[in-house]
Amino acid sequence: MTELCHFAQNGKKIIGVAANYKSLLKVLQRPTPQVPGIFLKPTTSYITEKQKIIIPGGFSVNEEIELGVIVGKNGKHIQEDEAMDYVGGYCAALDMTATCQMKEARSKGGSWTLGKGFDTSCPVSRFIPKNEIKDPHNLQLWCKVNGELRQNGNTNDLIFSVPVLIAYISQYITLEKNDLIITGSPPGMGPVHPGDTIEGGIENLVSIKYCVSN
Ligand code: MG
Repeated sequence: MTELCHFAQNGKKIIGVAANYKSLLKVLQRPTPQVPGIFLKPTTSYITEKQKIIIPGGFSVNEEIELGVIVGKNGKHIQEDEAMDYVGGYCAALDMTATCQMKEARSKGGSWTLGKGFDTSCPVSRFIPKNEIKDPHNLQLWCKVNGELRQNGNTNDLIFSVPVLIAYISQYITLEKNDLIITGSPPGMGPVHPGDTIEGGIENLVSIKYCVSN
């Protein structure tokens, strides 16, 4: 088994943020949320490069390229103006999402657990030390499937910024060192199938490549 990078090995939770790009809401024709919509993915969803994304039988799965924020120290009730002190680093992450399960959850008011949390649903890049990113709100995220560009968005389009997310989440959930916050995905995501190759990353910083299997 391939070894996971240190945050994936030691992190206790992965917190996702739903629909956090203005351009995505425009495409979905949804109103701007007042507060971030958050969800959890289990740490068993982590994979690192050389491992495959495995689509569970009968599932339809989309890729979502995201900026991941790795928590650097424990904190609760973190204020927005001190929130960046709690950032330990960053990564590129794929929030693999089972659209069939999400559709069912949305229409019946069910949980997002299977839609977001199945095994291999959180492929990540290497750890990017905090000092390598001067401004997390001006990063170009991109994602190609089988060489075709699907997603290409900038984190300057985020509705809720990194400090706002840290302050909001930590009101309710203690953030612990090595936890990962995935900050949402720009529009363009679509279905992936066994045999597909997903490449993505943060321009000029990091790129990842994952194969899809069944
Ligand atoms: Mg997402």
